[in-house]
Amino acid sequence: TDRFVASLAEVDAAAAHTHRVQDRTAEPAPGLTSGFGNTPDTDPAIGVNREWGRAILERVPDSVLGITTADAAILPDEAAVHAALERAQGAAAAWQELGPDGRAQILHRAGDALERRRAQLLEVMASEAGKTLDQGDPEVSEAIDFAHYYAERARELPGIDGATYTPADVTLVTPPWNFPVAIPAGSTLSALASGSTVVIKPARQARRCGAVMVEALWEAGVPREVLQLVQLADSALGEKLVASPLVDQVILTGGYETAEMFRGFRSDLRLLGETSGKNAIIVTPSADLDLAAKDVVYSAFGHAGQKCSAASLVILVGSVAKSRRFHDQLLDAVRSLHVALPTDPTAEVGPVIAPPTGKLREALTSLGEGETWVIEPRQLPEDERLWTPGVRAGVRRGSEYHLIEYFGPILGVMTAATLDEAIAIQNEISYGLTAGIHALDAGEIRTWLAGIQAGNLYVNRGITGAIVQRQPFGGWKKSVVGAGFKAGGPNYLIGLGRWADAPVTG
Ligand code: GLU
Repeated sequence: TDRFVASLAEVDAAAAHTHRVQDRTAEPAPGLTSGFGNTPDTDPAIGVNREWGRAILERVPDSVLGITTADAAILPDEAAVHAALERAQGAAAAWQELGPDGRAQILHRAGDALERRRAQLLEVMASEAGKTLDQGDPEVSEAIDFAHYYAERARELPGIDGATYTPADVTLVTPPWNFPVAIPAGSTLSALASGSTVVIKPARQARRCGAVMVEALWEAGVPREVLQLVQLADSALGEKLVASPLVDQVILTGGYETAEMFRGFRSDLRLLGETSGKNAIIVTPSADLDLAAKDVVYSAFGHAGQKCSAASLVILVGSVAKSRRFHDQLLDAVRSLHVALPTDPTAEVGPVIAPPTGKLREALTSLGEGETWVIEPRQLPEDERLWTPGVRAGVRRGSEYHLIEYFGPILGVMTAATLDEAIAIQNEISYGLTAGIHALDAGEIRTWLAGIQAGNLYVNRGITGAIVQRQPFGGWKKSVVGAGFKAGGPNYLIGLGRWADAPVTG
């Protein structure tokens, strides 16, 4: 599809190297759907069927209140935390005895159950987490793909290198609110596929999303003690949960500081996770500037910029900085974005998760030295969480905006005399999650691929929306903790268990 394929054959060949660790297969596996239109009569402008979307979203305010039949067990104290983990540990042997094939069957059923709940998941994502329909729909598909994909990867585990794979007994999953279905689902399903039981604590801002996802898995046959949904009555209990010796490993998606805090709770903690990002798209003079403007805008402002993968910076190389055409296209595109609550099926930029405070508020309302607003963000009167997207120019190397992650609808513009300088600007950032280049010159693309320090590299494409199997997702530097195998890739389950060499016999 035009979203994923670059404009020139040469460029496409270069893009085939976007994953340094894993192969990038040309086609999604049979049955995998993410990234493609999923509903009949899909409207290409919003990626879903408009009438269908409208019908779902009209029901949001009331119906969502009734869907929390699977609401989390609230753990009131340390004894309850311990009891939940003991239940998980006690259930591990039976789950492991099912074997990869038995677990795969249940996981495939989980994929089907998630598909049946697509509308319900879209409702709860919209009402609780502010996901617009165009963002929520592919997210449900990603969750479904994780189920089918990890089910099949689990079947491969026993055969790898003749070594013995020992699953963890208990995996604690602590997902974020920004992908409130796909990330909890992917983490949970991977651990379950590997043979581990799971205790999941959804993010506070997205607990209902997590509950509906878990309910689908229970419905598919995952026993309740194998998959436990919890919330903590008191945030201080988080330390008890993470530090418990009954937890074999933690799958975390969240800020780098949270990973540090978890390690502070327990120094020998086995932690696997994806942490922060501060990502840039470089645009060189050889680029298709129209395509670049479109991809920059979508990557920066999809889900109001609240993706770890979002483009927070665009770095304009050489003459692009002075290109009227690029400038006008970019600003027109940003101004044309429809900012609205997700109850409007045509919303393109939804609300931020909460009325902005702290660093995000500062970034939306003030400028650093030498910076100017090309488009100043504005809070809309109808809701404190709705902000029109902002573009700031003149971002300086080494400034706060250059180096800090903000989770919101702002794009910073930087300039570089050469591609090498642009690469250096990106590499100065301590994170390395996603990175993009728009260039049609194959030499430039090769230089960039060889020099850029990020886990997911995208050539002539937006930098959000990794696709299960096709574009496994994970970073470098301070964007990753633990083994660093990519989610949705062939090695992820390998990183979740322990390996022992087969005993030498004879
Ligand atoms: N996998 C998502 C993407 O590629 C990003 C996940 C995240 O924000 O953590 O856009």
